[in-house]
Amino acid sequence: MTAFHSGFVSLVGRPNVGKSTLMNRLVGEKVAIISPKPQTTRNQIRGIYTGEACQMVFIDTPGLHRPRTKLGNYMVRSAEAALNEVDVILLLVEPSLPVHPEDREIIGRLAKVRTPVFLVINKLDTIARAEALALIDQYRQLFGFAEIIPVSALRGDNVKELLAAVEDRLPEGPRYFPADMITDQPERQLTAELIREKALGLLQEEIPHGIAVEIISMNPREESGGTRDLLDVEANIYCEKESHKGIIIGKNGDMLKKIGSRARSEMENLLGSPVYLQLWVKVKKDWRDSEFLLRDFGYR
Ligand code: GDP
Ligand code: MG
Repeated sequence: MTAFHSGFVSLVGRPNVGKSTLMNRLVGEKVAIISPKPQTTRNQIRGIYTGEACQMVFIDTPGLHRPRTKLGNYMVRSAEAALNEVDVILLLVEPSLPVHPEDREIIGRLAKVRTPVFLVINKLDTIARAEALALIDQYRQLFGFAEIIPVSALRGDNVKELLAAVEDRLPEGPRYFPADMITDQPERQLTAELIREKALGLLQEEIPHGIAVEIISMNPREESGGTRDLLDVEANIYCEKESHKGIIIGKNGDMLKKIGSRARSEMENLLGSPVYLQLWVKVKKDWRDSEFLLRDFGYR
């Protein structure tokens, strides 16, 4: 019998490079929310891949960008702390040259870490082969990456190869989680993130980053004669300004209804039961700068 290998893999990279998309692809299901706007992911979301003889626990690390608010500070700290405790770091980058100054900065930080770093050039589907080769060449000169692997997280190109390369670096170790488990995120948090994703997707640029979602309750309701329980979900959407509240609710409540119905249908897929969702919109001024509120919302 071959030995079992396991370990932790950190995904780092600037906002919007495709970390969440890649993690969902690696794990095979949707565990991290995706949005075309940067900084969607606030918490470290773990995705778990279990193979024949290995298990990888992926940590979707928020962007290592320059902090401007306390929330930003928190994000950078948690990203840096994650790097020293993992077996492999995947640095994701956009497939473009010249190398972005923030990527240079991230590479500078990684130089101090002993963990092997793989460069993952994402969005391979958007470039020609010759460009990919030029990128590999440029990055190779910048840093001693353990591997350089171009992928398309969106299409799944080269993702198997990436998994195999990561498996090669994992130490012998136990299966930390059951084989059928793909995330350790509590359902509440996934649910909150889902609502946030739908809201951000629908609100365009009008309310940049200024919302948080709090699940007030999630309770199964006994259906008389039904085979599956209906889930009652109540959630608050917090924003920073009265004017934002109006936008989120929309004319005749249309926007909020749209957010709710989109979130609900995905929640039903995710949770495997019918959902009755109720949403409220509340104003909490400057929530992003308040330590108290950050704790309140679970960003520790
Ligand atoms: P994150 O901020 O790094 O977690 O990035 P996301 O995973 O949220 O992705 C940001 C945007 O890039 C989304 O619109 C994705 O659909 C898009 N994206 C991610 N991976 C790929 C890819 O391989 N190809 C293309 N064309 N788009 C991608
Ligand atoms: Mg993300």
